[in-house]
This record gives sequence, C-alpha cells and structure tokens, in this order.
Amino acid sequence: MAFSFFGGIHPNDMKALSRKAAIRPFPAPEVVVIPLSQHIGALCKPLVKKGDKVTLGQKIGDSEGLCAPVHASVSGTVTAVEPRPHVGGTMVPSVVIKNDFEETLCPDIKPRESIDDLTTEELIAIIREAGIVGMGGAMFPTHVKISSGLGKVDTVIINAAECEPYITSDDRLLREEPQRLIGGIRILMKCFGLKKAYIGIEKNKPEAIQKLSEILGWNSDIIVEPLRTRYPQGAEKQLIQSITGRQVPPGGLPAAVGCAVFNAATAAAVYDAVWLGMPLVRRGVTVTGRAIVEPMNFLVPIGTSFEELIDACGMKDAPSKVLTGGPMMGIAQFDWSVSVIKGTNAVTVFSQEDLADAKDPRCIRCGRCMEVCPMHLMPLKMYAAERKNDIEALDSLHLMDCIECGCCSYTCPGKLHLVQSFRTGKQKLRDAAAKKKA
Ligand code: SF4
Ligand code: SF4
Repeated sequence: MAFSFFGGIHPNDMKALSRKAAIRPFPAPEVVVIPLSQHIGALCKPLVKKGDKVTLGQKIGDSEGLCAPVHASVSGTVTAVEPRPHVGGTMVPSVVIKNDFEETLCPDIKPRESIDDLTTEELIAIIREAGIVGMGGAMFPTHVKISSGLGKVDTVIINAAECEPYITSDDRLLREEPQRLIGGIRILMKCFGLKKAYIGIEKNKPEAIQKLSEILGWNSDIIVEPLRTRYPQGAEKQLIQSITGRQVPPGGLPAAVGCAVFNAATAAAVYDAVWLGMPLVRRGVTVTGRAIVEPMNFLVPIGTSFEELIDACGMKDAPSKVLTGGPMMGIAQFDWSVSVIKGTNAVTVFSQEDLADAKDPRCIRCGRCMEVCPMHLMPLKMYAAERKNDIEALDSLHLMDCIECGCCSYTCPGKLHLVQSFRTGKQKLRDAAAKKKA
C-alpha cells in the first residue's frame, strides 16, 4: 500500500468470534417482512396486495426517481402490506409474506450464457431491476452510482476492508466465493469501460488476500491491495486515499477524484443479477457478540427477523445491547422483530460485560478526539455546539462531513456520546435548511 490516512484507531477487532464460521444458508422462515425502504431515496410503492400469491424473486415494490426495487425472498402469500418496525428506528410500510416453502422461482429469472453483447445501458438496467444497493451499509442504489460516474471514473475500487470490529461476512465471502466477487468486478469494469480495478483488503484477513492473489495472479487487471489494519480503513474517502493517494474534497463524491467504490458483497450481487438473473433477495450476515453462544455467518433471506437469527445462534444471558452492524457504526435495536434488509451485514449482541457507559460523562479537554478524527474535524467543539443548539457553529464546524465512524467516541476518556450527538446535530442542520428553504 502506497498511501495512508490521517487519524483512526486500532480497536480489538473481535473477529475471532466468527471468522472460522463458514457461510451457511439460513432456513427461510415461515414469515418474511420486507420493508419497502431498503435504500437511500424514494420509498417503493407496493406492487402487491393482501391475498396475492408471489414467487421467489418477484418484484413486489418499486418507484420512480432515486429508488431500488424490492423483491420477494420466498414464495407464498402476501398477508399484509402495512407499517412494521424498521432497523432505522421508525415504522416503515412493509410487505408481509407467508412462506409456502415451495421455493417457486419467478419465471422472469433466467441465467445468461454470455454477457459480451450487453451494453452499459443494458447492464445498468439489469442492476437496477435486481434492486442492488450498497451492501456495506450505505444502501445507495448501485445503478445510480454507476450511471452518475460514467465518463468521470477511471478507477474502480472494491471495498473488502471490512474494518468494523466483529463482522466477518465479507471475509467469508472472499474466501468461499471469490469467483462471484471477481465476476462482479469484471461487470463493473465493463460498465465504466475500464481495464483495471483494485480490491482493498485489511491485512487481518490473510486467507482472503492469499486466495484472491492465487486466483488472480501477479499481473492481473484486478489488483489485490493489502491495507493497514486501522479503523476506519473501509470508509469510502479513507479507502480511496489509501489506494490511490487521491483526496475526496469536503462534501464531494468519489467520482470527483475519478473513483467509484463498491462493497465486496455488492459486487457479488451484481454477478448474481447479470449472470444468474437473480435479484437481491439474500445476503451474508454475521451474527456475533459476546452474548451469543455460537457466532455464525449466514446467507439470510431478506425479511428474516433478528429474533430468529439470534435464536439460531443461542444467547448466553440477557444482552446489554443488540445492534444492526458492528459496534462502531451500528444502530441499537430495541425491537428484535425488525428484519434483515439489504444493508444488514451483521447482528451484534453485547453482553452485560460489554457495558461501558460512564455515570457522569464529561469533557476533560484532552484533545484525543481531534487526534483520531479521520475527517480532521473538532468533535469536542461540535458536541458543545450541538448541546447549545448553535446551528451556525455546527455548520461552520463542518458537522455534515462527519462520517459517524465513532473513532472519537471510542477514544473519549470522558465517555461522551459524541456520535449520537452528531446524528442529532445533523438532523438539526437538515431541519434548519428545510425551514430556511420554506
Ligand atoms: S476526547 Fe472526549 S474528553 Fe477528550 S476533548 Fe474530546 S470530547 Fe473532551
Ligand atoms: S467527528 Fe465524526 S468523523 Fe470524526 S471521529 Fe467522530 S464520528 Fe468520526
């Protein structure tokens, strides 16, 4: 690796809990609850109603504009289209399907023998129809990322850093199904008309690095780039800087410096969509944490509840917290009936031993948060501004550039809830902007 990035931390990665667990197909549950919002953009409109029969892979929701359609992950009968709890913390309209366990495949799903004649526009249309979004958690529609980067992007980067502690689902994908990943990368390269791509992998995944290096060889057009193990190595801007040395300007997108970054699972989903005709209806999920008896990696039908995943792995005692994602960027879940969505890479269950909340959080002005912030921000000042509702200060401190990586919270000896405060502050800025516009 030629370059590095400022700040960051080196937490115990806790990946040993699940990294040996090969991906197992999770049995399709009796009922799946498929939210009509699993992406950044417009909510899908339901294309089915209560009583309708659906097939596996059938499109059940779509909309116009910035949107990615959603599909049935089982065959069966729609029993409701109604608001249900969502991992984002709100109630979201969802399609509830009772599984008939027939696994009747949608007749539209047909594998391709060749993709040589497909144009970029046709590939983008296939990726859109398959409902593919950023599966690392961002959930930005992949077809929009590709089409908005055409003519600007000279470098495709696959984000296989998986720097978030505890999570190993991408690591297992690289080790177990490298051909799906490589096939997906070649499709993405074809979309942009490029002859070269990079796969960025942290050095704490030696088996994955070795496997891909062996398959690709030393002079491949796809370059395996081992990266320093340092959180947040997998954040988009930090990854671009580590691999290319280019710096995305504040508020800018990767395409501004000629890069397009796709998560490893997203690339594999692109392969499934284009070669197999299969939409995004399943994804790899790590179920882990010190409260879990047997941490696992599963291939999970979208719409499966967290509760079922946790039950399958067993729980040692009452957990202190259940998160969607990992400990740094994950969101706490209070209702375990929430479903796995396209961006769910992990369910992390903390034990009582993991509780680290201070009774009297306070800033001791040590400055550590500034030393670790990879975005060169001033977390202590942003926190104070958010507490005071000082919208002007939040803006001038560039709060919106915060990537919510959690490095500042992790390192803060005062145990301040910095990231939560920044999420609230961002909402205040958005509300203030909307008010001004109105
Ligand atoms: S790390 Fe915490 S205690 Fe130290 S300056 Fe930042 S907010 Fe204050
Ligand atoms: S201020 Fe934001 S970007 Fe900086 S360390 Fe904290 S969470 Fe990460």
